[in-house]
Amino acid sequence: MRTILTYFCLLFSLLITAQSSLEKDSIMLRKIHDQALVNGQSYSWLEHLTTQIGHRLSGSVGAEKAVAYTFEELQKLDLDQVTLQEVMVPKWIRGIKEYAYIETSPGNTTVTNILALGGSTSTPIGGLKAEVVEVRDFDDLEKLGRDKIAGKIVFYNQPMEPRHIQTFNAYGGCSHLRYSGAKEAARYGAVGVIVRSLTLSLDDYPHTGVMSYGDLPHDQYIPAAAISTKGADMLSSMLKLQPQLKFYFNQTSYMMPDVLSHNVIAEIKGSVYPDRYIVVGGHLDSWDVGQGAHDDGAGCVQAMEVLRIFKDLNYQPKHTIRVVLFMNEENGIKGALKYRDEVNRKNENHIFALESDAGGFSPRGFSFTCSEEDFQRVAQWKPLFEPYLLHYFERGWSGVDIAPLKRDGIVLAGLHPDSQRYFDYHHAETDTFDKVNKRELELGAAAMTSLIYMIDQYGTVQFPAE
Ligand SMILES: [Zn+2]
Repeated sequence: MRTILTYFCLLFSLLITAQSSLEKDSIMLRKIHDQALVNGQSYSWLEHLTTQIGHRLSGSVGAEKAVAYTFEELQKLDLDQVTLQEVMVPKWIRGIKEYAYIETSPGNTTVTNILALGGSTSTPIGGLKAEVVEVRDFDDLEKLGRDKIAGKIVFYNQPMEPRHIQTFNAYGGCSHLRYSGAKEAARYGAVGVIVRSLTLSLDDYPHTGVMSYGDLPHDQYIPAAAISTKGADMLSSMLKLQPQLKFYFNQTSYMMPDVLSHNVIAEIKGSVYPDRYIVVGGHLDSWDVGQGAHDDGAGCVQAMEVLRIFKDLNYQPKHTIRVVLFMNEENGIKGALKYRDEVNRKNENHIFALESDAGGFSPRGFSFTCSEEDFQRVAQWKPLFEPYLLHYFERGWSGVDIAPLKRDGIVLAGLHPDSQRYFDYHHAETDTFDKVNKRELELGAAAMTSLIYMIDQYGTVQFPAE
């Protein structure tokens, strides 16, 4: 009888403790959201980063200004440490504005909008004019063979699949065409490559992005450019009427030797586990068009806001919470690799990393790369997040910059915002400050702070916190 009584007493006290910690956590999440929505700094940081500095391709003046600006702003937060981590990054130059047209007969031309793909070589001096072979994917190259491709421009025209609800899946279905299209077409003797822009919207803005020649010998490099979706539809329909038409494009892009740049790192030291690290980040570089507002200025200022909120709430974390603004995600991930190398060299114990690199849109939740046990542990917190309309807790992709930190025992996560409009602006002239909604950006920062708070309070399966 006594044993049963003790058992019930224990169960009761556990229930009380669980109830009070639930209450304590839900009050904390409310305070975090109030801070982000009432005293938020993320939006004004983003305004400066995008409208005063602008785009920030690795190795550019913009990228260096962004390093200096975020370093200074983080210093103002009275943190325990703010540092710059040196990293060598590629430097690719777009050159003068690209020019392209479709020629149906000599002198009869229609201008179309293109952007050189990041990493592409230039066209020959004076531009390149050739007949066009339209294909959907690499299989078509094999079917057509060298006879039909040699000396021509390969035009990859596969629209992103609109049936996907998560637009990142539609992007993933086509991104290999942009990344490896030139390398594959060059094997069949193509002289250039035009790729349909990776967006679900039909407009006149081409979307750039990284490409690679892989193991192709340097003398076989061919120029590659993205064409707007409207341009792609026009070219495709004109080819049906006149398969012998010619496409002309001129671009003067080239690669320079690597240059020195930096990751920006700032932290609040943990009070109980100073040697256990929780990382939150985004990438500071962007493409060299537009202002890199959603990709990924938003993620950087949201990550900075996590530390700002903790400071202003006088929250003393148990673990060391570190913001990392990674350099060179877009064309090399050199910043992420350097960070990982330094973590390994210093034997720093990272238990959790969260990245925001999917746009500053309304947050819906998070996707997690971790063990099933860790996922179950995190998923049980879902009811705390639901009042903020954060319901998406799924296993999946986390982020490009934190992926190198993957090892047994670490939990990686990505902020999961609504993705419907992300690819309207991604890597295009249209990714500007005015496309970011202040409240949506702030809600994302609050969501990230909330998750980091919970991890800081309870740890992970392998590293539970007291
Ligand atoms: Zn990005």
